[in-house]
Amino acid sequence: MPKSRHVPERSCVACGNKMPKAKLIRVVRASEGSIIVDTTGRESGRGAYLCHLPECWEKALTKGPLQRSFKQDLSTKDLEPVRTYYEENLASQATAQ
Ligand SMILES: [Zn+2]
Repeated sequence: MPKSRHVPERSCVACGNKMPKAKLIRVVRASEGSIIVDTTGRESGRGAYLCHLPECWEKALTKGPLQRSFKQDLSTKDLEPVRTYYEENLASQATAQ
């Protein structure tokens, strides 16, 4: 039996669904504590993954899931890059449907 190629899977921190890493958006907590949406896949720091569902981003913006995975209190200001990414990339798609 040939070994099937291993596809790394991660869970969305909001809904918990597991899927291939490539289908998730990585959110990184940089070393100085700021939150970045990692669109290049090259940011270093502790990462959390979110799927493309707008409801998961809305959940993430209520802080719960990201605070849990980063083990850090996040302010609305800390989450500003997440909100911006959501509004620019996901919210518009949701209203277009
Ligand atoms: Zn999700």
